Amino acid sequence: MAEPILALRGLSKSFGALKATDDVSLDLRPGEIHALIGPNGAGKSTLIGQIAGSVVPDAGEVWLGGRQITGLSVAARARAGLARSFQVSSLAMEVSARVNVRLAAQGRAGGTYRLWGSASRDSRLAAAAEAALARVGLEARADIPVAELSHGERRLAEMACALALAPRVFLLDEPMAGLGADGTARLTALLDGLRHEAPILLVEHDMDAVFRLADRISVLVYGRVILTGTPDEIRASREVREAYLGE
Ligand code: ADP
Ligand code: MG
Repeated sequence: MAEPILALRGLSKSFGALKATDDVSLDLRPGEIHALIGPNGAGKSTLIGQIAGSVVPDAGEVWLGGRQITGLSVAARARAGLARSFQVSSLAMEVSARVNVRLAAQGRAGGTYRLWGSASRDSRLAAAAEAALARVGLEARADIPVAELSHGERRLAEMACALALAPRVFLLDEPMAGLGADGTARLTALLDGLRHEAPILLVEHDMDAVFRLADRISVLVYGRVILTGTPDEIRASREVREAYLGE
């Protein structure tokens, strides 16, 4: 089996008496979409925060490509190749998607390519931004202020920002939330292809999308992973159906 790109080992985080995550271990392998599902309050966003560095774990380790990154800042983890999308929009509304994506590309480059001459640096960043916009299908809408884009188009612009970082891992927290059927279909197709560029840890409530996309699924309940398996294994588990799927 291929070495995991991202490995979580024993991650725990309490808020007072509440164990938001409790000894969570899981792997993200090359080329896979690994979905993390569970009821509201199960600890999914807390876990994403522990990986991205915005939530400091009480215990446990995060490994990226064989290197332990547990002690690194959010910015250092982003430079190391972790791209996180937020549940809440993180775009600058008054400027275009193109400007947002270029800024995102610069953010990564700021730590990585500091020695480049500025002209060649700018043209490389612009090329990365254009490729990302094309990848999500937003070229025709790229110069409109983000405030005038639809919700689905903003989600695609956020994905373009993540893509422009050329990340090693995508951390996506409910990317389908609030999307209609058309937006969900576009994003599903995008994620389906994206897994081959970088594996995806996908927190998502849209079970149709999860079961269509995921190579493996982990089920989080009260901060603990109760099962990791293929979609078929998850569907067949009585424990999961009782705890989560409500059957
Ligand atoms: P999910 O994303 O699965 O819905 P969260 O990770 O957001 O769950 O939250 C897990 C639990 O931790 C919830 O009970 C939530 O209220 C609590 N929690 C999350 N963040 C904080 C915080 N900063 N302070 C206190 N409690 C928190
Ligand atoms: Mg959440």
